[in-house]
Amino acid sequence: MISKPIVSVAGKNGPFLNVIEALSQLDLSSLKDKRILIKPNVGRIAPPESGYNTHPEAVAAIIETLNKLGVETIAIGESPIVGVDVFKAFKRAGFTEMAARYDIELIDFNSKPPIVKNIPHPRIITETKICQQVYDYDVLISVPVTKTHMHTGVTLGIKNFKGCLYRHEKVRYHQLEYHKKVYPEKTLDSAISDLASVLMPHMTVVDGYIGMEGLGPSGGEPVKSDFAVASFDAMGADVLTCKLMGLNAEEVPHLKIISERKKMSIKVEDYNVVTNSYEKYIYQYKKPPTKISVQFPGIEVQDIDSCSSCQSSLMLFLKRFGEDMSQYALCDGKFHIAIGKGIEKAMDGTVFVGNCTRHMKEKGIHIKGCPPVATRIYEAIVHREPDKNEDPI
Ligand code: SF4
Repeated sequence: MISKPIVSVAGKNGPFLNVIEALSQLDLSSLKDKRILIKPNVGRIAPPESGYNTHPEAVAAIIETLNKLGVETIAIGESPIVGVDVFKAFKRAGFTEMAARYDIELIDFNSKPPIVKNIPHPRIITETKICQQVYDYDVLISVPVTKTHMHTGVTLGIKNFKGCLYRHEKVRYHQLEYHKKVYPEKTLDSAISDLASVLMPHMTVVDGYIGMEGLGPSGGEPVKSDFAVASFDAMGADVLTCKLMGLNAEEVPHLKIISERKKMSIKVEDYNVVTNSYEKYIYQYKKPPTKISVQFPGIEVQDIDSCSSCQSSLMLFLKRFGEDMSQYALCDGKFHIAIGKGIEKAMDGTVFVGNCTRHMKEKGIHIKGCPPVATRIYEAIVHREPDKNEDPI
């Protein structure tokens, strides 16, 4: 009989002890003497416990466990969202201080030229640019924070490896031509599955202490769910984490596609869950809404042929600054904002976001960038100079 892959679950003890306990329930002997690269989610400049990034103490727990085991090297690396300085993100997220405590190197994945990998039997991308440092280590550990995601349902251990893509390669995944005639899923989901065909975590440790629900990955609300999941099976870790978030992995398109392509089960019952009873750790995350305008009355959004990068920036902008925009309402009493290359008509005074709307700049305010971050959209509207002391989001 084939034994089920083991997934370890722990909770109710904070980010550090949750991970210590989850790891203690696994046989880690295969990691001894290995060179280990930890890939957290530190894609944005935000403080710990805001739900944006992995908690530094969850990673500290992994480092302490690995040090006791006797591994050769540990490093932490990230390629954050475009426009974010990785070392600023590490500092604000508490990683600089934590890494110094253990004398661990923090790596900017974008500091060296990428390695171009061909995708065998691709769904949508035939090759992809992966940060070369990823290939300098024996074991890659994905350490995501639990978040719902307005484009991909959730962002967990497998999706976290999109942060191993070089610079703008991440944006390219959001800009692919629609392939509805071939596959029903979004192109982004297909592209993530193509990446997973050449790069998967060897191990996943999920930080579910404070995650993000609703309009994730950047416009949602922080939630304390206080659990951790660890497994050498990347699919098993994500499947169990969905369950603990009150979600069904079978409804997450990229996980469904990857499970079929890699013949990994997407059903909870096919995993050996190590814990007394994981049900007690379930916390129901709010799913992302399907329509932007429902969330923001008084704001008229035009979105024609945009990609999900601009949609994310727009969401974050509306969530953070939307209430202040009533003073910029046009003659119909609404604030007008537009994204996407298909915009052809708009009311005079509309705010056009992103390089794709450049052709409309005579009709209102144009904000360049691909995509511009939310803070830059706000600054352009209110004619404020960028504040060097403020973290752009
Ligand atoms: S400007 Fe916005 S919609 Fe256009 S490609 Fe860039 S991110 Fe996508």
